[in-house]
Amino acid sequence: MKKKIAILGSTGSIGKYLIDIISKDKKSFDIILLTANSNYKTLLKQAKKFKVKNIIISDKNKYLKLNNKKNKINIYNNYDNLNKIFKTKVDYIMSAISGINGLEPTFKSIKHTKKIAIANKESIICAWNILEKELRKNKTKFVPVDSEHFSIWSVLNKSNKNNIDKIFITASGGPFYKLPLSRFSKIRIKDAIKHPNWSMGKKISVDSATMMNKVFEIIEAKNIFNLPIEKLKILVHPKSYLHAIVKFKNGFSHLVIHDTDMKIPIFNSLYENKDYYINQNYLNFNKLNHLNLETPNLKKFPLIKVLKKLPANSSLYETIVVSANDTLVDLFLEKKIHFQSISKIFFSIINDKKFYKFKSIIPRNINDIINLKNIIQKEINSRYI
Ligand code: NAD
Ligand code: MG
Repeated sequence: MKKKIAILGSTGSIGKYLIDIISKDKKSFDIILLTANSNYKTLLKQAKKFKVKNIIISDKNKYLKLNNKKNKINIYNNYDNLNKIFKTKVDYIMSAISGINGLEPTFKSIKHTKKIAIANKESIICAWNILEKELRKNKTKFVPVDSEHFSIWSVLNKSNKNNIDKIFITASGGPFYKLPLSRFSKIRIKDAIKHPNWSMGKKISVDSATMMNKVFEIIEAKNIFNLPIEKLKILVHPKSYLHAIVKFKNGFSHLVIHDTDMKIPIFNSLYENKDYYINQNYLNFNKLNHLNLETPNLKKFPLIKVLKKLPANSSLYETIVVSANDTLVDLFLEKKIHFQSISKIFFSIINDKKFYKFKSIIPRNINDIINLKNIIQKEINSRYI
């Protein structure tokens, strides 16, 4: 029987990788829903290729433009119609919308699928307690897609989870790892989005350049694996071949390696019993011989220091961290602020005493998170722009 699936954010980098994997095994899948923000041309092309009956396009103008044309496809503008779209639980949903805007669609999808693969790290960071409850309530399986977390996931089982001593998450160091600090003032947008190893969306590419992406991944791991933050460390490994090291208390450490190809975690989140990977490469001993692990330079990448400011338990403070960064990266990409202003403004928000109270407030629902995101966005825009 065909597997019924849906892809949220199918026109993005993760979404397209998944589409590519499915293209090679078309007969096994029935895609029920594809979604995007504004790229309706790619979305329609994908929908036609896979005979998809439902699409969601979030941008109002693009939605109106599309809806005026005659279409055989059901076109929606938001995620309020999922009950209509999913008559029964599908087998798999990929949550690959970028930014905190992915939270509501991710949350609303959980009850409609047997398994959800979440790439949208912002949801996991800000709302893990809410998502976890929803997953349990609906008996929906969860798989992390971020390569580091999928790697850790793949070596953990119920019996060895309690024996974790430390987990090291690796970072490539991004495009500026070797750039002297004195040249950071000259960084342009095109330099920041040119990642040395991965081809990703613009937002996450800038987060890799500032290394905020690793801050996010430490919080993601803390939540998913329910570990104290002290057990999680960042290691720079420029070749991105090693994704994580799980060190157990019994003296063994597991190093998880795979090619720098997001299709590997995505493929494995989709298939459970397939024992091949398309384009499988040999183990690259050349890269393995040059792991070159180092601790990150905090002078060049000051955002990492925010890890010391996080409360032990998940709170709304993480929403402030994510929203401040989201807003500042957008402003950088709109050429309104300089690369180094991202960290400067970020810390002026994070260190503002009026936000400290959020360290002890647990989000009750996704509206708590979205409202706080809007407050932070307004604060930054009114204070700095
Ligand atoms: P991207 O920018 O390439 O694509 C984002 C997708 O989300 C697009 O389909 C876009 O149309 C859609 N989208 C954006 N804003 C939206 C909105 N307001 N409403 C509805 N849809 C919207 O991003 P990406 O690189 O594919 O990353 C997606 C998510 O996966 C991010 O959270 C990112 O952190 C995470 N992630 C990505 C990678 C990677 O290699 N690209 C790796 C690990 C984790
Ligand atoms: Mg990652």
